[in-house]
Amino acid sequence: MIISKQIIIKGLVQGVGFRPSIYRIAISNNVHGTVANNNTGVIIIVEGDEKCVENFIIDIPQRIPIASSINSINISDIEINGYDDFQISKSISMSNDITEVSPDISICDECLADIETQSSRIDYPLTNCTNCGPRFTIIKDLPYDRSKTTMDVFPMCKTCKNEYINILDRRFHAQPVACNNCGPKYTLYYKENEITDIKTIIATSGKLIDEGKILAIKGLGGYHLACDAFNDESVNKLRLIKNRDGKPFALLFSDIDAVKAHLDINITEEKLISGWRKPIVLLKIKNGLSSSISIGLVTIGAMLPYMAFHHILFKQIETNCIVLTSGNISDEPIIISDDDALQTFGNICDGTITYNRHIHNRTDDSVTMVVNNTERTIRRSRGYAPSPIELNLNTEGIFAAGAELVVCFAIGRGSQAIVSQHIGDLKNLETLEFYKESINRFSRLFRFKPILAVMDMHPDYLSSKYVEKMNISNIKVQHHHAHIASCMAEHKLDEKVIGISFDGTGYGDDGNIWGGEFFICNLIGYERINHFEYIMQPGGDAVTKYPWRMMTAYLYHYFGKDVTSKYPFLFNGVDNDELKIVLSMLNKKLNTPITSSAGRLFDAVSALLGVCRVATYHAEAPMQLESIADESVTDSYTYNCDVHISFKSTFVEIIKDIENKIPISVISSKFHNTIVNIIVEQAKIIGNKAGISKIVLSGGSFQNKILLKKVEMELAANNFSFFTQSKFPSNDGGIALGQLAIAAKRRELGII
Ligand SMILES: [Zn+2]
Ligand SMILES: [Zn+2]
Repeated sequence: MIISKQIIIKGLVQGVGFRPSIYRIAISNNVHGTVANNNTGVIIIVEGDEKCVENFIIDIPQRIPIASSINSINISDIEINGYDDFQISKSISMSNDITEVSPDISICDECLADIETQSSRIDYPLTNCTNCGPRFTIIKDLPYDRSKTTMDVFPMCKTCKNEYINILDRRFHAQPVACNNCGPKYTLYYKENEITDIKTIIATSGKLIDEGKILAIKGLGGYHLACDAFNDESVNKLRLIKNRDGKPFALLFSDIDAVKAHLDINITEEKLISGWRKPIVLLKIKNGLSSSISIGLVTIGAMLPYMAFHHILFKQIETNCIVLTSGNISDEPIIISDDDALQTFGNICDGTITYNRHIHNRTDDSVTMVVNNTERTIRRSRGYAPSPIELNLNTEGIFAAGAELVVCFAIGRGSQAIVSQHIGDLKNLETLEFYKESINRFSRLFRFKPILAVMDMHPDYLSSKYVEKMNISNIKVQHHHAHIASCMAEHKLDEKVIGISFDGTGYGDDGNIWGGEFFICNLIGYERINHFEYIMQPGGDAVTKYPWRMMTAYLYHYFGKDVTSKYPFLFNGVDNDELKIVLSMLNKKLNTPITSSAGRLFDAVSALLGVCRVATYHAEAPMQLESIADESVTDSYTYNCDVHISFKSTFVEIIKDIENKIPISVISSKFHNTIVNIIVEQAKIIGNKAGISKIVLSGGSFQNKILLKKVEMELAANNFSFFTQSKFPSNDGGIALGQLAIAAKRRELGII
């Protein structure tokens, strides 16, 4: 029997080779009809023998392109039209609704083969097809079409055009399709030379890397700086160039075997690092890596080649691992313009490799890790953004500004949240510009008109100031409530939960700095049930650079102003004059805002053990403390919980352990275990009292692998139903998502 169906598919279905794959599935199942893009997704009309149509429908989810994803399939019966073949129709612009924009996709195996065999693409470093290549970084507008990308200035040659129009070709409708004859071209600026022949570029840049030179290389979402990862001298020179004291560098390995030779990697991590998104994955260092790469840490960020150029370069060079760090100075956004790159790197690097296709949307390499077999996003950018998340709430017109450090913003369309790529620290002027520019670009791309804005309660955040200038109604959301809501949004929770939010800093509604928080909350509001006790933060925000100041503040709080004479050995190595100033601040309560921050507690303990007393990058002290912990230790310290959670007995016992020469790896682990015990115990107390069994954990402190791993294991052992972040960062990069969910829920109930 002949039947006819209309199938509407929503999800990530444009710009990923979806329609051609539907065509091929149709041909192989011997059905007729059409497939078309419109602004809301893909519409398929299919008719044929009942069994064939059924098989066609079954095949769709199994045979769609690797980078596509289906949110919904809606199937309905329609009248038979009598199609005599299957066709891909032109894009139809039907409504103002939008569909997804694909993130960039790493080069596929077939394209890698093409650059060795296909005559027009031999060594062509920008080879791509419908299954791979740039997307978000080149798109200016929707619907996704070459004329609306930065490929608009490159007319296709005859060969490319033939591939582009041939339905059975892998490059059918591949918008950035290009080859050596017609596509964008690479140039190497080296000394006074401008080298444009690709073979010479590769040979010269390969030689330069092997000689220990530093190169600026244009990537997909911005420039990178690169050098041989095994050459200490080069790595140290790169540190000087980047103005980066101690922060670890990301590494690009030639292939998975090279990763395995130097790093510990399990199956989940291997799947993640090899997948089409090609993020940086934090992995444990096994051996043979220069200590100048990851100073004092046991993990390093590793990734695999995702552009043809990376692959071609590795064929040329001796080393199987290069440093590939973002091309910026200090905290500025990664450089994307060729002029800026030449100006900035022209003199300080040994060569600059560029190509003449513009990067429209800047993306950094995304950073992830695996804890308890689950991916945890730390920095969400290339390969991930701007894929939306479904919230099951009306989000239309809501703009969420995010926080300040590692900021992302989010916009609401329909019932989705579209979270921006990682932007950076707004205190940096160029980053603030990038923030504003990206908001404009997202608004245009996704046809977004803000009607309600949501911001952090912190009055001085530049994101809050941005909202205040928007001239639309706005609401303020407490920082840690937004963290919990972010995790709730990720797991589609809309009910009362126990929210446990640990991080470095967040403005509380009593005007103090919060960060060790136990809430009962839902998407509307929260009740602060308990928190770490308030401690003075001598010098305000400046303490983040000087963990020893927090150590001093804790010791002062628990042992009084004579603590330096009582425990002089704890202050070994601390500058006496600076110590005097800090003690005097504490005595006079001068410039000493109070904080319940978990991050500051980790700072204090890290400094107390002498692990990190002065931090050279954000969160160095807690990272170093985590890095030395001996995970096999199961002991812990006591703590007090008479009113708020107090660490007096914890500090007494840690000092005793220091006096008894207990290894700091053991002390660190006992401290981590103590925090785990606090979480589990508080969850029990609060849960029993309130009759709530769901625990939601978020905040930057949960990027601590050991803490997260052990907390999840203990909560599971105690039969709690718990939720932690995976697809969105638990750090402030996830705040905008939480803000947006809260605003949507409050608006739904008319509480704004
Ligand atoms: Zn490809
Ligand atoms: Zn061509």
